[in-house]
Amino acid sequence: MTRRKRPLRRCIGCGVSQPKKDLIRIVRSPDGQILSIDTGGKMSGRGAYVCPDGNCLEKAFSGKHLVRALRMSHIDEKVQRDLFTRLQRMTESCKLCGGE
Ligand SMILES: [Zn+2]
Repeated sequence: MTRRKRPLRRCIGCGVSQPKKDLIRIVRSPDGQILSIDTGGKMSGRGAYVCPDGNCLEKAFSGKHLVRALRMSHIDEKVQRDLFTRLQRMTESCKLCGGE
């Protein structure tokens, strides 16, 4: 077993597997009402991953990808919009600081 293998997760936008640390994790609270952005990768709960990329974000939120990835039947429109705005801001700041 090699220890150099990094955990990969699939982006719900483009469907490409990427190293977990390069993706943004969206976590569903146990009661399913709150969706948070897990920047440290430490939050528990069912998560979905998306690239820090505007196109991926739009894809992830335009279809049923997010709902399905989080095993939810429905996400409140306002919750979804809030989350999208926050994620968008994160991807913008990532570009500004050169990705690190
Ligand atoms: Zn992607």
